Amino acid sequence: MKLKITLLPGDGIGTEVTAQAARVLDAVAELYGHEFRFDEKLIGGAAIKESNTPLPHATLDACFASDAVLLGAVGAPAYDKLAPEQRPEAGLLVLRQALGGYANLRPVIAYEATAGCSPLRAEIIEGADLLIVRELLGGLYFGQPRAFIKSDGEDHAASSAFNTMRYSVGEVERVAHMAFRAALARRRKVTSVDKANVLETSQLWRETVTRVALDYPGVTIEHLYVDTCAMQLMMKPREFDVILTENLFGDILSDEAAVIAGSLGMLASACVGGAVDLYEPVHGSAPDIAGRGISNPLGAIASAALLLRHTAHLEREAQDVEQAIRAVLDAGYRTPDLRHDANGKCVVSTTEMGTLVTEALAEVADRRHAYHAV
Ligand code: NAD
Repeated sequence: MKLKITLLPGDGIGTEVTAQAARVLDAVAELYGHEFRFDEKLIGGAAIKESNTPLPHATLDACFASDAVLLGAVGAPAYDKLAPEQRPEAGLLVLRQALGGYANLRPVIAYEATAGCSPLRAEIIEGADLLIVRELLGGLYFGQPRAFIKSDGEDHAASSAFNTMRYSVGEVERVAHMAFRAALARRRKVTSVDKANVLETSQLWRETVTRVALDYPGVTIEHLYVDTCAMQLMMKPREFDVILTENLFGDILSDEAAVIAGSLGMLASACVGGAVDLYEPVHGSAPDIAGRGISNPLGAIASAALLLRHTAHLEREAQDVEQAIRAVLDAGYRTPDLRHDANGKCVVSTTEMGTLVTEALAEVADRRHAYHAV
């Protein structure tokens, strides 16, 4: 298969982890006889530095001309004081909106090998395997009007600010269908998360999801308030299969869910449903560790596996990359973010982790080819 992929490393550790994800995709191409072409472009702080905008036209054009986009992360402290629409993060928000991927799929897996890396007790997280389906193009992050009304003088108390949370039935329906379809291929349970006891947008959300659920009689639907869900995620993560929620709640719940996986660096995501699918690890640019070569590339590599599954429909290759990640963790290798348990685990750098996954993938592919040759 031929695939054209736009690589957007972005800022901070985004560049480190994307390089490893691209290496793994190169290995997939070589091992399974595909042709993946990469076109690297700037976004975020790196693009501001070069061309004074967080999303240059050349980047957007390249994304639209490709089959999929693989992004690292955006954000750099140097730009923190800029107005929201000028910051590196604005580049990503505009890109997401332009590409149109309204459903953000965020799988969370508690690998057996890394159970000791989570601050939660092993018996709580054991076997946890859930998918957060976050609505990505609506809600507070995009709602208009929005404003920060700064007082002119010294009177800070005169400043005010507001954002708008707005959802239409159509926006809720399309992401709900995505979640129910995902549940059909999993354990057939959807937990819809809202704040319907307080917010009108959540009342619309709940009403609409309840109606969409009628199309999927084989899937169990439950509704949880977001505060309850935040607690239940830590108390009994195994109970969840698919969590369906709006933009802001999904952003927060998925960072919380990183505790189940042992590190934010483990989580992958896919933004699907639009003109071109966008894949990115859940984490940000992590300025606190950027440039030290210690970031965990597994979330980015797992995002590459999602790209193989959802855009390229290469399920076998996606599973093999996931199997390679599991094998490396089972063998005891960890980047430093994964809390180091005592049993002689081996701490490796970002690049070493990429090498280990690539080598493990070659072994998985060899075994698969040998099996089919018998
Ligand atoms: P962050 O995700 O960058 O980091 C949070 C913590 O997790 C840090 O301690 C970091 O060291 C650690 N961490 C994150 N990813 C890791 C990895 N792969 N390996 C090891 N440790 C990892 O969130 P933040 O610190 O709140 O934000 C930093 C910048 O990133 C900000 O500018 C923010 O706006 C931006 N951001 C971007 C995205 C994105 O590009 N999708 C997402 C979140 C935050």
